[in-house]
Amino acid sequence: MQIVHTPEALRSVCAEWRREGLTSALVPTMGYYHAGHASLIEYARSAADRVVVSLFVNPTQFGPNEDLEAYPRDFERDAALARDLGADLLYAPAPESMYAPDHAAWVEVPALAGTLCGVSRPIHFRGVCTVVMKLFMLTLPTLAVFGEKDWQQLAIIKKMVTDLNVPVRIEGRPIVREADGLALSSRNVYLTPEERAQAPSLRRSLLMAAELAAGGERDAAKIAEAVRTFLREQLPLGEEDYISIVDPDTLAGVERIGQAALCALAYRVGKARLIDNILLRP
Ligand code: AMP
Repeated sequence: MQIVHTPEALRSVCAEWRREGLTSALVPTMGYYHAGHASLIEYARSAADRVVVSLFVNPTQFGPNEDLEAYPRDFERDAALARDLGADLLYAPAPESMYAPDHAAWVEVPALAGTLCGVSRPIHFRGVCTVVMKLFMLTLPTLAVFGEKDWQQLAIIKKMVTDLNVPVRIEGRPIVREADGLALSSRNVYLTPEERAQAPSLRRSLLMAAELAAGGERDAAKIAEAVRTFLREQLPLGEEDYISIVDPDTLAGVERIGQAALCALAYRVGKARLIDNILLRP
């Protein structure tokens, strides 16, 4: 596995692959790998001739009071894991090489970014779209792989690619979980043992929502309220950011569960802000 640190080096390796007629898959990440990241890299390995993993804690997607400085990092371990999983190229740029001091161009999808996580993280998805677009323009991959854990991010990237005719196939992959149901996240390391013990109730609340929908409940507000009540009891160390039921593609609020709907939530638990989601099928 080759490791490169500059946009120019990334562009030149990928251009050479294209000249050779090879397909490529890009897996954008912020590092501190867990089995969720591994599943994306493994999928990429199975889907293309060459696999590029980017490892970049992107400053522009963090708000002023968020955890940019504290975000967990372990470059050596991540690089070894990416190599063992069969990545061909690891792209680990310094922030200065991704953003010039006078950086001024942004990619935004406001219609999908103003809801769910966007309410408490107003600049987050602008930073995500911009860095992902930059990675796409440097790599020009055949496909790019994202986790369904960040469902809103995936929906926004799909919309960005459709509306701007970006020639990259976007693939979403299922959420990887701990044995007790907690969705794997680099931020789970922030949890105290007490908080960690309560955190799996997020998953349990979503399974309950799916059961209610499958059992015939059509009223989205009732399902959301049931999730809220459950979490107030089961996760007293946490505090709701949002519990919402939305259209899986447009992320618009849903009142009646007709076709599939997405139940998504964010909860603040100590220093961590945890997100999870589930598709509700009537
Ligand atoms: P991050 O490093 O947290 O920015 O995540 C990089 C990619 O891994 C994103 O596409 C995430 O959606 C995905 N990801 C993070 N956690 C999980 C998980 N538990 N299961 C599947 N994919 C995940």
